[in-house]
Amino acid sequence: METTLRGVGVSHGVAIGEVRHMGTAVLEPPAKQIPADEAEREQGRARQAVEAVAADLVARGNLAGGEAQHVLEAQAMMAQDPELIADVDRRIAVGSTAERGVYDAFAAYRALLANAGEYLAGRVADLDDVRNRIVARLLGVPMPGVPDSDEPYVLIARDLAPADTALLDPTLVLGFVTEEGGPTSHSAILARALGVPAVVALPGAGEIAEGTVVAVDGSTGEIFVEPSQEKRAEMESASAARKAALSAVTGPGATSDGHKVPLLANVGGPGDVPAALEAGAEGVGLFRTEFLFLDDSKQAPSEEKQVEAYRAVLEAFPEGRVVVRVLDAGADKPLEFLTPGDEPNPALGVRGLRSLLDHPDVLRTQLTALSRAAEGLPVYLEVMAPMVADRADAKAFADACREAGLQAKFGAMVEIPSAALRARSILQEVEFLSLGTNDLAQYTFAADRQVGAVSRLQDPWQPALLDLVALSAEAARAEGKSCGVCGEAASDPLLACVLTGLGVTSLSMGAASIPYVRATLAKHTLAQCERAASAARAADSADEARLAAQAVLSGE
Ligand code: PEP
Ligand code: MG
Repeated sequence: METTLRGVGVSHGVAIGEVRHMGTAVLEPPAKQIPADEAEREQGRARQAVEAVAADLVARGNLAGGEAQHVLEAQAMMAQDPELIADVDRRIAVGSTAERGVYDAFAAYRALLANAGEYLAGRVADLDDVRNRIVARLLGVPMPGVPDSDEPYVLIARDLAPADTALLDPTLVLGFVTEEGGPTSHSAILARALGVPAVVALPGAGEIAEGTVVAVDGSTGEIFVEPSQEKRAEMESASAARKAALSAVTGPGATSDGHKVPLLANVGGPGDVPAALEAGAEGVGLFRTEFLFLDDSKQAPSEEKQVEAYRAVLEAFPEGRVVVRVLDAGADKPLEFLTPGDEPNPALGVRGLRSLLDHPDVLRTQLTALSRAAEGLPVYLEVMAPMVADRADAKAFADACREAGLQAKFGAMVEIPSAALRARSILQEVEFLSLGTNDLAQYTFAADRQVGAVSRLQDPWQPALLDLVALSAEAARAEGKSCGVCGEAASDPLLACVLTGLGVTSLSMGAASIPYVRATLAKHTLAQCERAASAARAADSADEARLAAQAVLSGE
């Protein structure tokens, strides 16, 4: 029977498909004792699970080919190691369940490997993955990590970390639903980057059984579990009509009376460029370079590798603006070689520009790579630092850019309330500001952006956040400099009008949102946007602000 659940819609569109869950990473089966007469049956279960996992790894290796095939075949061999199987048998014979026997036998083997020199120690992660697969199979729970599916699916996860998302095959993910996360969580950002519908902060999502068909409406935040044929047809046709209306408005971003607001794309690397071009992005307003660093958390990518990736993005926008953000490691994007491992509050610790100033060699290499990548290209390169707190931060970053000989505009992100409050002082050191409203909301409301329970406070319509946006935009105007928005706030079409009314000079967002923002902006004059902005700032809550702006923009 059809049931409806409601979370927070964070990426437009409709997805209909079967549910696959993201498996949990660590599965520790309970250490209960079984009677002796069950040992043989448990040993049989263990062996069957080992064989099934090994066969699955080999099959996936055959499909993948290349280097991946070698890794998967080696994992299949690990699973079938006769000594390991003998140890599992022994443990079951003295009272372990099959799953606990596997768990403990792998733990003993793991300790051996970890102490056996660098090469074998490097295989520990592969061994853990094999163990998790066998244990998951025995417990009858989803396989850990990204689902193994050849068919498209709707992904349900507790939340998605940037490292998980690197493993997702975008051609298979129809949409996302997460239990945690708010509108600015990485799940939401990734969904917008992939252009797939998404709903976050839906605590019951984990209960939806694997394989159930769901229909996700990323605009309203609704999920229909086992939707009727009529419901599916209704949602599909509404979504098609919306898409057709959007493609009717094209060209550079502007209000109906011609006030230009460049619409730029947020990208994580060259892979996001085709969607940005297709959406008609006028450039890149945020290149999140940390995604290039996530492949190997132990060291930075080489200068060569960085040059190649930066150049691929810069070349795609001849004559356009490309704003590159230097590495923003730490908090929810930790990197082993940069991020201290023992911080009690990582979001308040050494992250973003702070960690780069502690590791000037990493910053220098990145700036040099950017400088080399831009050589001979007609692009307008702009480089900005994340997590700038004050004028001293802005100066340290600008000095590093100058020392690296970078021919570009240098800017500061406004993500910390102090930077908005003292924007004019920061603008003495840099040439532009870019509002990272995701972190700015997190720090203004003391509300972790990864935690679904506080997603109300992450709402970018909060009037206090709008006040900080206005302060920054006014400071930039007074200094004759630009101030864009590259946080997720820019991707909400109504809010984009309000931000324009507050005086921001460009809007950058996941490519899939650009047509929505372009179409809505084109329906309103700058004066209407300004009135909507004043009405929203006069409100006392995010909901009231949204309603007040809506009333102004719809001419009520
Ligand atoms: C932001 O904080 O708004 C931002 C754009 O940076 P990120 O989402 O990558 O932290
Ligand atoms: Mg940020």
